[in-house]
Amino acid sequence: MKPSPTVGLLAMQGAFKKHGEIINSLGNKTLEVRKPEQLEQIDGIIIPGGESTTIYKMLQKSGLFDTLKDKIENGLPVLGTCAGIILLAQRISNSDQPRLGVLNVTVERNSYGRQTESFETELEIKGLDNTPVTGIFIRAPKIKETGHGVEILSEFAGSPVLVKQDNIVAATFHPELTNDKRIHKLFTDIL
Ligand code: GLN
Repeated sequence: MKPSPTVGLLAMQGAFKKHGEIINSLGNKTLEVRKPEQLEQIDGIIIPGGESTTIYKMLQKSGLFDTLKDKIENGLPVLGTCAGIILLAQRISNSDQPRLGVLNVTVERNSYGRQTESFETELEIKGLDNTPVTGIFIRAPKIKETGHGVEILSEFAGSPVLVKQDNIVAATFHPELTNDKRIHKLFTDIL
């Protein structure tokens, strides 16, 4: 880890500010990223929840898409949450929307039924102490399949909800909506 790394917050749409508060409280700097040249100033990036199709459109419009994809493929650490994991996924089972396609998983968008569109549950996380993490799921995707190179760090009801592949950490839930910093720490540990 660099002495004081800067974490980019992809600031197109969605809940990026809360991620920033946690990252700052862990002793790292943050930068709201809206332009391609800002990718040169960061040591890692967070792709927040929101609406994956909207975030994609804004990535294209801002000119960030190609450089961001290239940087992630070349090792830029990234934390993607909820819509973020949809953008990172190589395959989306129920949509042909464009995406970064860098994480070897298949996701299904809006995969929990109407009754459970939003819910909270306690998650055991591999590699953390025994205290569970509260997972807040909001119109969350499900990871239907993981491919080679993907480590499953947590599961809920038979589906992975937190995965890691080299420089990519991705969750289907919203770790920024609790006061627990441990998921962000898993990410800052790879900066
Ligand atoms: N349902 C959203 C999507 O498909 C994701 C929801 C979220 O990020 N909370 O993009």
